[in-house]
Amino acid sequence: MDKKLFTPGPTNVPVEIRELLANDMIHHRLGDFKKIFESLSDKLKQIFKTKEEVLTVTSSGTGVMEMSIVNLFSKGDKVAVINVGNFGKRFVEIATVYGLKVIDLKYGWGETYNLDDIKKVISENPDLKGIFMQYSETSTGVLNNVKAIGDLTKDTDIILTVDVISALVVNPFEFDLWNVDCAVAGSQKGFLLPPGLAFIALSQKAIKALDHSDLPKFYFDLKKYLASHKKGQNPYTPAIGLIVAAEKACQDLLDEGLDKVQSHNRELKSYLENELTALGFDLFVKDEDARGATLVSVIGNENLNVPMIRKELENKYGFSVAGGQADYANVLMRVGCLGKLTIKDMEELVNAIKEIIK
Ligand SMILES: *Cc1c(COP(=O)(O)O)cnc(C)c1O
Repeated sequence: MDKKLFTPGPTNVPVEIRELLANDMIHHRLGDFKKIFESLSDKLKQIFKTKEEVLTVTSSGTGVMEMSIVNLFSKGDKVAVINVGNFGKRFVEIATVYGLKVIDLKYGWGETYNLDDIKKVISENPDLKGIFMQYSETSTGVLNNVKAIGDLTKDTDIILTVDVISALVVNPFEFDLWNVDCAVAGSQKGFLLPPGLAFIALSQKAIKALDHSDLPKFYFDLKKYLASHKKGQNPYTPAIGLIVAAEKACQDLLDEGLDKVQSHNRELKSYLENELTALGFDLFVKDEDARGATLVSVIGNENLNVPMIRKELENKYGFSVAGGQADYANVLMRVGCLGKLTIKDMEELVNAIKEIIK
């Protein structure tokens, strides 16, 4: 039985990419690598839509979330986190570990933020140093409006950090136009790559902030990454094989066209929303404008037992779908639209669910 991932990361990886990972090793201080690394960096700029440099780090997504805190802030700095789910909570936790003063702007799961609250926090806290948010909150499926926050922070000293880990590639994103200062991404979500690489983009405002940060860091010191980046290198031995694969995966995405990838994902998402609600599931995110194209998040009920459905999908069909996180572990089903899935794949998944609940 072939296994298929319908999860919001990691995703299925195309065979051409998996084959590249089996190639002979090359050395990360020699010419062949430099060429590939520079080409990857150039493609990442096109994907993040920025003139600034995008740095590549060997870690999962949480590593670059931590980097965005330890490099841009100091102990005692006041920051606000727009917390609409489990990954928002992660920013709160990391910032707290490093001794920042965190204003936790917590919203109910399945909801996006309220802009008036953010305006109020900014006006009442003239010493606010940063705002953190998710673009796509993967624990719920909410897609937050990033541009509206960038409009508030652009002419201030507030650093806007956005976790675009599950959003990038499959939802439109504009680093420069939306006035984002720091954006963090990971290889295993929209990029059609295995886990292991993370990416971080910095505005000029963020690069200046690096000089003021007093938090401890060694492996995650962004100044070292910036200095090596100029030489087409990483400060330490990177995941060389993944970088080679990433260069090809990004080229393939750009050849296909980000617009096309994004409209395909919206099509998958609408198809799934229609089919799953027809089966009796409720959409978890009620506000249509706040639903992203990364995943479809639905709630089960007495007739639609999510843990049972997931188990049967896995064992009988080889189809992996995600459950909920934290309080929603047993009621939410989260189906990823990432990873080169087709409408036919989604049909197969929906048919399997129909057979299971019959
Ligand atoms: C997957 C994900 C992360 C990072 O998770 P890792 O397991 O560290 O790669 C962070 N934020 C969001 C929104 C995610 O979807």
